[in-house]
Amino acid sequence: MDISYIINELAEDRDAYFNAVAPPIIQTSNFAFRKVEDLARAFEDEMSGYLYSRGINPTVDILRRKLAALDGAEDALVFNSGAAAIFASVLANVKAGDHIVSVRNPYTWACKMFDQVLPRFGVSTTYVDGTDAANFFNATGPDTRLYYLESPNSWTYELQDLPAIAQYARAKGIVTIVDNSYCTPLYQQPVQMGIDISLQSATKFIGGHSDVVAGVISGSAAMMKKIFDSEYLNIGSGIQPFNAWLLIRGLRTLPARLERITRSTYQVIEALQNEPRVERVIFPLDPGFPQYALAKKMMKGAGGLLTIVYKAETRAEIVQFCERLKHILMAVSWGGHESLAIPKCAGIRPEDFDPSQPAHRMIRLYVGLEDPDYIIADLRQAMRSQ
Ligand SMILES: *Cc1c(COP(=O)(O)O)cnc(C)c1O
Repeated sequence: MDISYIINELAEDRDAYFNAVAPPIIQTSNFAFRKVEDLARAFEDEMSGYLYSRGINPTVDILRRKLAALDGAEDALVFNSGAAAIFASVLANVKAGDHIVSVRNPYTWACKMFDQVLPRFGVSTTYVDGTDAANFFNATGPDTRLYYLESPNSWTYELQDLPAIAQYARAKGIVTIVDNSYCTPLYQQPVQMGIDISLQSATKFIGGHSDVVAGVISGSAAMMKKIFDSEYLNIGSGIQPFNAWLLIRGLRTLPARLERITRSTYQVIEALQNEPRVERVIFPLDPGFPQYALAKKMMKGAGGLLTIVYKAETRAEIVQFCERLKHILMAVSWGGHESLAIPKCAGIRPEDFDPSQPAHRMIRLYVGLEDPDYIIADLRQAMRSQ
């Protein structure tokens, strides 16, 4: 399906709302029925129609159908956060006694779920280095039910060979979930590679304006129905109509924003590679990236997030660089209009900071929608004043 069609037309029924170009926000909790029979049908299968907005809502439906189509998936579900999307998709596919193999260092709250929540219910997790697909297969035991992937990850961009892992998992009846937040469906389509559930934090590129928190999963209609009927309705973490409307608005400009951000990212990388304070730039589509060939094979593009290893003898030098940035904001998240920087050392106790470890000197940068020269000038003045 054409991306322009998906973004501008699919699932919109303008005749039904005064030919308004922007869809309405159907801000209602419940929907009324005239016939008991219709009500009975809605009780029977809440996914089949409008009953109550914890389930299906018309504004959310427009978004849901667009997001599914962008992923090339049969269906999608939209949540009130990326973390909720992760939680629901994992929980729906495990039971007591089951085992999960996860790529190491997944997103923080995926990690907390595996380490702190799931063990309370008898579900265990083994972390593996995902750069070699064989590590997943070797860690698989008779109780392994799920592979959790994140490719690329959002700090150091390690990839997993998604088609190879999906093929192996399918043969063994193991469910695969991949966090595709970094690429979005515009740059990578995991479901097309055989992955069962593709998820994203829609807070990032889909929203695109740092004003909404949301998450999305996509996959087969059967898998989405299974998750809808249990975790989606039960945890009640579906997205609200207004936030869904903001995401529809975000989608309208997603390709244009990604295009601009991708172009600017390459310019920023080129400038950084010539800065004496920059020891290394880590970016998956940089020819020097260790998994460059695999990245080229799986991803149509990359942009926005990159990480630098800063040359510094002390933590104070990194702190000074970050605090001297005049326009680039120091904040978590990414995917919005504004450029960001975040130092790894903010999560390391000062007494544990070890400059001999490049990981301690990492600073993640997000290139936003500003003029690339404006971003580069800000980075340069903060580095060169040291
Ligand atoms: C932000 C993020 C999430 C979590 O999404 P929220 O919308 O913040 O709950 C998950 N995965 C990755 C890679 C992220 O960057």
